[in-house]
Amino acid sequence: VDGYLANIEKGKHLNAFVEVYSEEAKHRAREIDIKISNNTAGPLAGLIFGIKDLICYKNHQVNGSSNILSGFESQFSATAVERLLEQDAIVIGRQNCDEFGMGSSNENSAHGPALNPLDPSRVPGGSSGGSAAAVAANMCHIALGTDTGGSVRQPAAFCGITGLKPTYSRISRWGLLAYASSFDTIGIFSKSAEDNARVLQVIAGKDGKDATCSSQPTPEFNTPITDKKFRISYFKQFFTNEGIQPEIRAAYKSLVEQLGNGGHELIEAEFPYADYILPTYYILTTAEASTNLSRYDGAHYGLRSSNTEDLETMYKRSRTEGFGDEVRRRIMLGTFVLSADYYDAYFTTAQKVRKLIKAATENILADSDFIITPTTPTTAFKQNSHTSPLAMYMADLFTVQASISGIPAISIPCGSDGENLPIGMQIMAGAFEEEKLFAFSKILQ
Ligand code: GLN
Repeated sequence: VDGYLANIEKGKHLNAFVEVYSEEAKHRAREIDIKISNNTAGPLAGLIFGIKDLICYKNHQVNGSSNILSGFESQFSATAVERLLEQDAIVIGRQNCDEFGMGSSNENSAHGPALNPLDPSRVPGGSSGGSAAAVAANMCHIALGTDTGGSVRQPAAFCGITGLKPTYSRISRWGLLAYASSFDTIGIFSKSAEDNARVLQVIAGKDGKDATCSSQPTPEFNTPITDKKFRISYFKQFFTNEGIQPEIRAAYKSLVEQLGNGGHELIEAEFPYADYILPTYYILTTAEASTNLSRYDGAHYGLRSSNTEDLETMYKRSRTEGFGDEVRRRIMLGTFVLSADYYDAYFTTAQKVRKLIKAATENILADSDFIITPTTPTTAFKQNSHTSPLAMYMADLFTVQASISGIPAISIPCGSDGENLPIGMQIMAGAFEEEKLFAFSKILQ
């Protein structure tokens, strides 16, 4: 704990943490030291973790990096946090992110941007940017983020670490502030696939507090490295696709070739709905966000405008003062696509397309163990360089397919570009096949 606290202090300028639980963490460490000497410590004794500012921890603040929740304290802990603490892991602090998980750069945060530890003039990715920066800069051992459309995988790629988005419903969403409920997952940042699997082992599985949480049994996620050969689908068009940074294209091509030379079976895949992935994601998630965020009304949680005359102005002004630009944009888009006149044209259509994308993805996976793609079209970009929302949404080009389909996906580091910025590769597998995903990651890492 002392070592990590020293690193947090050293890396303060990165703005990765919004709150550090120094005294509490030291106190718990002393308690766990005693348990260790009595041989009663849990299996995660010694593991120090951070939590994204969208995940609740009892009697501590959670703001969703939004002014609308300023000062708000949670009365309960997320199931994932509770399960880690039960196994004697130690929580060290709360980490910066994009407001309510909406963004790809951590620039949409009421706490100010978090910076990339590998090059502070660049973004750490988002929305779980603070968590990725913290793990990369050795400020904690692992971190819990959330991944709705790439918010764990993309920052993991930008910071050169491993990031898992599990199967939808594998981990309870109890205690996770909702953004788009049919996409939201809690994800895990780590430096190795082994540690990632260790954490998933503890936090996955049925939870009476989240009706959507799956009751699928949790297998042993950490299996020994084997020389098993897999069937791997890849997209040949990415070798030459101009929308992808040249070094990422080259790293992807050489990974595919290396897998072929290693005896894995390569399958060239086609995806007929590539152009529809991002629009489908942004129509459905903004719709869900607009309803989820209606609970922040100035009456129940956090901020209430002081400048109000009646109930209506209290709602309006609290929301106007409390939400940032991107969140307001999405609430408006979401209410638009759900409005009576446009519901069928946008929302219903996007739901149908979601089904097609999911079926086509499952179809590829019926024939192969994995689909591999780059995690992102570019490496970490400069702060303030993506001023248009559409440019920002493009950062999610490769990650949202797994989110739309509800399948697990992991980003692992795979080389670097000309400026020594890390490149991430994404591996997707069928629903509830995390075990296989980890086994393959270990071969690659
Ligand atoms: N960048 C994506 C978005 O803004 C993903 C966010 C997330 O996964 N929480 O929606």
